Amino acid sequence: MAEMHKQVLERLHLEHDLRHALKGGELQLFYQPIFHLKSQQLVGMEALVRWQHPERGLVSPAHFIPIAEETGLIVALDQWILERACRQLWTWQRQSDIAADLRLSVNVSAKTLQDATFFKYLDTLQQRYPLPRGQLLLELTERIGIELGSEILSLLELLRDRDIEISIDDFGTGYSCLSYLHSLPIQHLKVDRSFISQLEENERNVQITRMILLLSQQLGYRSIAEGIETPRQLQILQELGCDYGQGYLFAPPLPPEEFEWLLKAYSH
Ligand code: C2E
Ligand code: MG
Ligand code: MG
Repeated sequence: MAEMHKQVLERLHLEHDLRHALKGGELQLFYQPIFHLKSQQLVGMEALVRWQHPERGLVSPAHFIPIAEETGLIVALDQWILERACRQLWTWQRQSDIAADLRLSVNVSAKTLQDATFFKYLDTLQQRYPLPRGQLLLELTERIGIELGSEILSLLELLRDRDIEISIDDFGTGYSCLSYLHSLPIQHLKVDRSFISQLEENERNVQITRMILLLSQQLGYRSIAEGIETPRQLQILQELGCDYGQGYLFAPPLPPEEFEWLLKAYSH
C-alpha cells in the first residue's frame, strides 16, 4: 500500500512538473536522421522530445508520455512539438537546398487526433509553415486501431485531405493485421526495433522480418527500420529490400545544432 501511495504521489509530482515544463522551456526537440538504405541518402528526420528536468535530469519520453496521455496533457504537448518541428524544418528549408526534400516525422497520440481542436490547429500550422506536399508524416503506433476504434478511418482521412502522410510506428508489436491496415490511408510501416535488434541472432528472426517487409511491399507501403545499430543489421535489411532506416549506426537523435552540421555534411 505504501508503495502504491508512493507511486501515485510520484505521478502527481511529474504531472505537475510537466505542466510547468511545457510553459517553461525545459522541453527540447531532438532529431534523428532517416536514410534511404540503398543509396545511403539522408531523406528525413524523426522529431523526438526531451525533457531536461531541473532536479531529475533527463527524463525519458518513454516515462512521461504515458503520464501525459493519462492526464490529457498530451494534446498540448503534441501540438507544441508539432509546431516546433514544423518551424524547424521550415527554417532549414529556407537556409539549405538539401533540406528542401527532407521529410519530417512527428509522433502523435490517439488522444491528440481525437481532440476537437486538433484539425483546426493543423490548418493554422500549415498556413504558418507551408511545407511542400507530403513532407509531414505523423507516426501513430499500431495501437491506434484499438484506441480510435470506428473513428479511425474518418480521422485518418482528415489527415490525408491535408497531405499529411501516416506511418505506423513500432509495427509488429501490436495485434493489428495488415489486411485491416490496408483499408486505411497509410503510407509507411516502421518495423519495430525489437525485430531489428534480433536480426543477427538467428535465421528465424531474419525470416520474420523478411515476411513483414514482403507484405509491406506487396501492399504498397514504404518500410522503415528503426534501431539499426550494427553494419550487419544494415546489410541484412538492405538485402531484404527495406526502404529506409534510422538508428545509432547512423546517428542518435541529435540536438538541432548538431543535426544542422549533418545537413551541411550531406549537402557536399
Ligand atoms: P519511437 O517513436 O519508436 O522512437 C524511437 C526510439 O528509439 C527513440 O527513443 C529513439 O531515441 C530510440 N532509438 C533510436 N535509434 C536507436 C538505436 O539504434 N538503438 C536503440 N536502442 N534505440 C534507438 P525515445 O526518444 O526515448 O522515445 C521513446 C518513445 O517515446 C518513442 O518511440 C515515442 O513513442 C515516444 N515519443 C518520443 N517523442 C515523442 C513525441 O514528441 N510525441 C509523442 N507523442 N511521443 C513521443
Ligand atoms: Mg516514432
Ligand atoms: Mg518506434
